[in-house]
Amino acid sequence: MPVNKEAYIQISTELASKHVTLVAVSKTKPIADILGLYELGHRDFGENYVQELADKSTQLPNDIRWHFIGHLQSNKVKQIVGFVQLIHGVDSLKLLKEIDKQGEKVSRGIDCLLQVHIAEEETKFGFDETELAQAWKEIHNKKMNNLNIRGFMGMASFTDDMNKVRKEFKKLKGLFEQYKKEKEGLDILSMGMSSDYNVALQEGSTMVRIGSRLFGERDR
Ligand SMILES: *Cc1c(COP(=O)(O)O)cnc(C)c1O
Repeated sequence: MPVNKEAYIQISTELASKHVTLVAVSKTKPIADILGLYELGHRDFGENYVQELADKSTQLPNDIRWHFIGHLQSNKVKQIVGFVQLIHGVDSLKLLKEIDKQGEKVSRGIDCLLQVHIAEEETKFGFDETELAQAWKEIHNKKMNNLNIRGFMGMASFTDDMNKVRKEFKKLKGLFEQYKKEKEGLDILSMGMSSDYNVALQEGSTMVRIGSRLFGERDR
């Protein structure tokens, strides 16, 4: 299935009017599909798998801003740290330390989002509220100079119950506002996917990650 350019134009126009960034999630999709949106002027793309991202980045124009949105293992950080624009799913101190260390090696300050666990489902990664507070303290005590915490990322429960989804997004937005008071430069709230981005926008998202609406359904 080719890229849905009509959906892209409609969604990107709506988001631009709200100053919300669209990350086009291209995981599992071929180079040609990414180029389809690139040719329309799109530059922010999201990938979930390190090897796939590394491969695609060498085959595509280098003005693409690559977002890593998957679950990142510490031992794979070095494969993306030289070029990645934003790492969305940082969910442990161990990972933060590794990103800082690898960032230093390539002389880059790596922009990161802390993943916050907002869904009632057990399967989603992320810090809960208590862990977030602990991580925050550590980050500031440890003086990690090669990473910049730009904000939070969260995934709502996978459900048709939009009231539940809304409640979860509201919670994340509340935490974001609370932490923003303490730190300048906290400016990104990554929430919303194909099925729930409208709710996420209403609840104050600044960045949405949309895949299947743009590229069609995936096998994985
Ligand atoms: C795959 C994925 C998306 C995009 O999902 P769609 O439902 O296809 O829009 C967004 N965020 C994360 C973390 C993902 O893994």
